[in-house]
Amino acid sequence: MTVELCSECHKYLAISPEGLCNICDEQALQKRSVQIKKEASTEDNDLAYLGKMNQVLREERFEKFEENYLEKLKTSPGILSINFSDSMVKYVIETETLGILDYYPKANKLLIRRQNHWIKPALKWIVTTFIVTKEK
Ligand SMILES: [Zn+2]
Repeated sequence: MTVELCSECHKYLAISPEGLCNICDEQALQKRSVQIKKEASTEDNDLAYLGKMNQVLREERFEKFEENYLEKLKTSPGILSINFSDSMVKYVIETETLGILDYYPKANKLLIRRQNHWIKPALKWIVTTFIVTKEK
């Protein structure tokens, strides 16, 4: 076993062929996107394979938001509260100036309820509207 830099946690540890340490490798395997990708790789039917890969894309979007942006958004100015609704896989975001937003991370769509206006791609809009302004 070689000791190298883990591409996820950036610590020098024994590294798997995927470039991850044991702990990060374990966490990666538990991700839904990774599990579905594995299922897709054994799928013989083309349509079923495409369906699974579309699901992978949706899960990856969700994971990307939760891993990289959720905590930043919670502390962004103008954000009053963020609540996750399990059944509809959406975040209900209460804002100071735009009222309530329904954000669907898997579909990358967002509804500004007050204006009945849909925004897509939603994550880019969220980042530029609430997160980037904070970091200026
Ligand atoms: Zn690691």
